[in-house]
Order: sequence, then C-alpha cells, then structure tokens
Amino acid sequence: MIRVVGIGPSRDDMTIRALNAIDEADVIIGYKGYIKHIDDLVKGKKVVSKGMGQELLRAELAVRESKAGKNVVLISSGDPGVFGMANVLFQLMGKYKHLEVEVIPGISAVNFAASILGAPLHDFAVISLSDLLTPLSEIKCKIKKACEGDFVIAFYNPMSKTRKKPFAEALNILQDEMKPSTPVGLVKGKDGGADVKITSLENLPSEEIDMSTIIIVGNSMSYVEDGRMVTPRGYMVPYSLHPLAIEFYEKYLDGEGADGPNLGCEYYPCHHHPQNCTFCYCPFYPCADPSTGGRWIKEKGVWSCEGCTWIHEDKTVQCIQAKLPSIVENIGDLKKKKKELLKLRRECIRNTEC
Ligand code: SF4
Repeated sequence: MIRVVGIGPSRDDMTIRALNAIDEADVIIGYKGYIKHIDDLVKGKKVVSKGMGQELLRAELAVRESKAGKNVVLISSGDPGVFGMANVLFQLMGKYKHLEVEVIPGISAVNFAASILGAPLHDFAVISLSDLLTPLSEIKCKIKKACEGDFVIAFYNPMSKTRKKPFAEALNILQDEMKPSTPVGLVKGKDGGADVKITSLENLPSEEIDMSTIIIVGNSMSYVEDGRMVTPRGYMVPYSLHPLAIEFYEKYLDGEGADGPNLGCEYYPCHHHPQNCTFCYCPFYPCADPSTGGRWIKEKGVWSCEGCTWIHEDKTVQCIQAKLPSIVENIGDLKKKKKELLKLRRECIRNTEC
C-alpha cells in the first residue's frame, strides 16, 4: 500500500489521518526539506529523503517499496492533489499492476493563506506560475480566462531568483483586466507563523515576492476591512424598511421617480455632481457588503451608504432598471424578494466593474 500523505503547511496543521498513516508506515519517502519538519514522527522507520526536482524518482521508489510488501508513505507538503505528489504517482500508475494507493488530503497552501487573510475565496482559480512543465502561453491563457470569469485567483510558485518572466506577464494581464484597487493578499509561510501583507494590484510589491509566496488576487467584489480580505457571498441580513424608503418606492412603482440627476432636491448632490438620483433609496438596502463603499457603523448596527457612489452611476442605474420591474412589483417584494435583489446587485457589479 502507498499512502500519499499531505502534511499541510505546518506541523500544527497536520490531520489525524496524516499522523496515523505516518505512524503505521514502514517506509517514509519525501523531499528532504519536508521530512525535516516531521523527523520526530518518522524515528525508527526507513526514511528515504530526496532533493527538489526528484519527484518521479520518489514516486518510483514508493512503488518499488510497495511491491516489496512494505507499507509506504509518500510525503507531500500542503495537499497532495494541489501541485503535490498525488499527480506524480497517478501518472506513473499506468505502468504497474495491482498497486494499492490512498491519498490522504492535507491543508493546501491556498487554504492556509486564505485563513490568515480572512475570507478571500469565493469561486476561485488556483494557478501555478511555474513554467518548468507548463508553457507560459498556457499559463497566460488560464489567467486571462480566470479574469474574464471574475474568479478570485490564487497563484503558487510566483517567482524564483532566475524565473521572473511568468510573474511579470501575469501582472500585465491582471493590470489590464482588473481594477487597480483590487485587493491582493500575500502570504509567506515560515516556521511557527507567516509573513502577511494585504495590498492592492496597483501597489503590489514585486520585490517581496518569491517562490514560497502565495498570492491571492481578489475579484470585482473583494474588499478589505479591519485588515482582513473578504470576497462576499451575499448573505442577507435582517432589517426593516424605512418609512421614507417605502414612500419612495410607492412613487417609483407608480412611475413618479426621478430619472437622472435630481437638481431640484435640496440635498443634491449628496455624493458628487453629476450623480444619478434614480435610486435615491437603494433597492438593495442594506446590502451589508462593503464592496461598493457602504459600511457598518460599528456598535450601532446601522448600515451606512454614505461611501457608496456606485448606486448613483448611470451604468449602474441602467443595469438595475433593466431587471428591477420583473422582481419588484409591489412594496412587499423589496423584502420578500431580497435574495433575488441581492443577486441583481451582484450581476450589476459585474456588469459595471468588470
Ligand atoms: S447604496 Fe450601495 S452600500 Fe448602500 S445598500 Fe445600496 S449598494 Fe449597498
């Protein structure tokens, strides 16, 4: 039996399954840098440690030991299925008969990085920038498609001392396709913790990035609050409709709303001139999602839209107007169909921000 065991990013993150597999093994095979982290767990066992770049050799050795009747553990850092040893072993397996293989998952570097940054992952793509086995044209194509799909993107192996071009090319694509203010998290694991930085695409410090840095680039909805990076899923928060909002939407549904800048309003412009006042009261209130500039007033539990200019942009208003009548037919729908409204908001953010 060969067990491909993910040991996660650090000792503290190892799973009980991984610990048990190591405990039951006769032979441990792995990259020497990873074996070093678990040397106390492998005492008394046959240990075969090899250098970087010898992945196929490690896999072949695991097969040989297994064929000799040994219980083998093939060590992988992070998760064996995410740029780890599972792929190497499974590619070899077609050569051999009767191999018993079990993959024991571990915490991948992307999950570890995300947990430190906050909650940056929603729908996401994981892309390695190593062009040792993958042509740069393929890597660039995948980055482009991920940007078009508005995926959060996690990058592995971004840059080494001699391999800088893939990162430079990736950065060019990201800068072409995404807003300069898109949040970016950098996490570099080290013994007993991690170096962490949250910045933006326009301020990305290339000089701080190396092979071991995990980069997580947010999407059009990602935001940073209280030092944490978040990509919201769009949960609804309980609320009651304000009497002035009810009055506003009664008029709106009767076709009496303002269209464009309401120059006659004594509060105009409450944000900037020119501003579109069609949705003076936002149909999504409270969206509870800071990605367009709103925020909670802490302790009071009140959602403030003061910083949200998105709702007053012409493109936004056009996008909302195209679908709002099919969702809100009467005042009650503002609450009853809140999930649909929040989905419309996401759709319009993508239409206007991507
Ligand atoms: S105005 Fe902006 S922040 Fe306020 S609820 Fe609407 S979308 Fe959210």
